[in-house]
Amino acid sequence: VGGRRAIGIDIGGTKIAGLLVDEDGTVHERRERDTPAEDVHATLEQIQAVGAELAKGAAAIGIGAAGMVDFEAGVMRSAPNLAWREVPIRDLVSERLGLPCLLDNDANAAAWGEFRFGAARRYEEAVLVVTVGTGIGGGIIADGALYRGAHGFAAEIGHFIVEPDGPRCGCGNRGCWEQVASGQALDRLGAEAAREDGTILIARMAAGNPVTGRYVADAARQGDATARAIFDRVGRRLGEGIAGLVNVLDPEAVVVGGGVAEEGELILDPARRAFLEAVEAPDHRPDIPILQAALGNDAGAIGAAALALESLG
Ligand SMILES: [Zn+2]
Repeated sequence: VGGRRAIGIDIGGTKIAGLLVDEDGTVHERRERDTPAEDVHATLEQIQAVGAELAKGAAAIGIGAAGMVDFEAGVMRSAPNLAWREVPIRDLVSERLGLPCLLDNDANAAAWGEFRFGAARRYEEAVLVVTVGTGIGGGIIADGALYRGAHGFAAEIGHFIVEPDGPRCGCGNRGCWEQVASGQALDRLGAEAAREDGTILIARMAAGNPVTGRYVADAARQGDATARAIFDRVGRRLGEGIAGLVNVLDPEAVVVGGGVAEEGELILDPARRAFLEAVEAPDHRPDIPILQAALGNDAGAIGAAALALESLG
């Protein structure tokens, strides 16, 4: 009953999520721990603990981690939200757990999860996955495999400059796509609107707390015009960026995941409209569906487990 199993681990800035996953993508067990983001050794201890609890019956372990992962070497070169520089995570975890281990970027892992078992499972060749949360990450499926580039760093799609005088980005530039088309943009535009007029619904909902995209989404769902205009603006920027990437990659479909995508049509409807206006020659190419992701927060761990089983198990 059931095929081979692997552990999939998703290391985020705040949580380490571990799943025990079948080769058909079914989740059998799950564990979660806090990420001690400031401390590399403590984080490795937590990964080891999660892995050990799930290790019974597992043939391999796959890890998706936020940051610049050197896939061939199994090394985290640099993680923006963790105190990790040049850490050989793959070999350290493999040694500690006695299992073959694979390390990939978290957005690549999530893209693979959606491609194999989620919203893009019916496609076979070329899919773009855009993960929209606080920032924007991505994964590119080309010729039925993850495209990792020459050094493993491909699909850092949040960081191309679309507004040279725009807000400062964590990468050091100004006006990267993720600054105008992600959760940060919803936070910023919501806070600006509330500062300008303290009587708007967003401001009243926040009731003195820092304004976040959550309040903007709640207000938009109640039909508030200011909140809807913010979603339209951020959604448009998302769709314009997707159009540029589709011009480059020519995928069969685009999957949009991450926390902001869970707002559904609020963000996807303006994104789809802007995409159709901005993509090159929309009347002369097949429809490219822009789909909401299907696996939610589990995509990264499920994808990491699948990658591990397929390449190591
Ligand atoms: Zn940037």
